[in-house]
Amino acid sequence: MINTLSSEFQLFIKIFLFITGLCVGSFLNVCIYRIPLEKSIVFPSSGCPNCKEKLQPRDMIPVLGYIFLRGKCRNCKEPISIQYPVVELMTGIIWLIVYLRYGLTAETAALLFLYTVLIPVTFIDLKHMIIPNGLVLTGLAGGIVIFLYHILYKPFSLYDSTKWYTPILGMFSASGILLVIAIIGLLIYGDDGAMGMGDVKLFIPIGLFLGWKLTLLALFFSIMIGGIISIILLIFRIKDRKSAIPFGPFIVIATMLTGLYGNQILNWYLNFF
Ligand SMILES: [Zn+2]
Repeated sequence: MINTLSSEFQLFIKIFLFITGLCVGSFLNVCIYRIPLEKSIVFPSSGCPNCKEKLQPRDMIPVLGYIFLRGKCRNCKEPISIQYPVVELMTGIIWLIVYLRYGLTAETAALLFLYTVLIPVTFIDLKHMIIPNGLVLTGLAGGIVIFLYHILYKPFSLYDSTKWYTPILGMFSASGILLVIAIIGLLIYGDDGAMGMGDVKLFIPIGLFLGWKLTLLALFFSIMIGGIISIILLIFRIKDRKSAIPFGPFIVIATMLTGLYGNQILNWYLNFF
């Protein structure tokens, strides 16, 4: 499909999606800061967390606003977290990568939505060790739209199946496994059980977007990536054995990789035998 579009038009779409992604990232920064504080993500307009000085329009230009201010508040000179431009750039790049992979398709629209919800999940879980229900429910709403698209209009290619129940199985596959692990952890260790319920919940919308095969692959990758990173953090003594490492960011990285390349990885793996 993508080949039928002129190269100028394709370039336009790439630039448009990258810039839109940067702006969406700017909004995600507001979500990351305010959702854990249970503040409205719409009102009031953004200000310096330190001196409450309102941001001017030019300060709010993604990435460039940070550079123009040299990473400091105009008023009180308090440093602005590098997280702001990082989240903006990350969102822009992710939007571009999804389009480069799937072109102008329902798959692109679906993954842009899912990944946009998963970015604040990552940063909130890193900082506060929670996965807010509002973000899980937002993901779920988008997942239901994809499910309806699949059963009413056209098979959704990420599911790699025409069966109507593939995304329903997806909802309960990885989250079911994690729930069992969470219950066992709770029985053995009490309240210090290693697995949080947030991680269980997070896989419910992911399952609707990816179907059961890719969702299980995402669970497998998240455990692999989580294990490797945890070992590295322990070796370099960035974390000790008692400190909890949030699992949400690993689920997000694994889901992003799986959504983009999961079916290729599965085909390659199955052909290997
Ligand atoms: Zn300030």
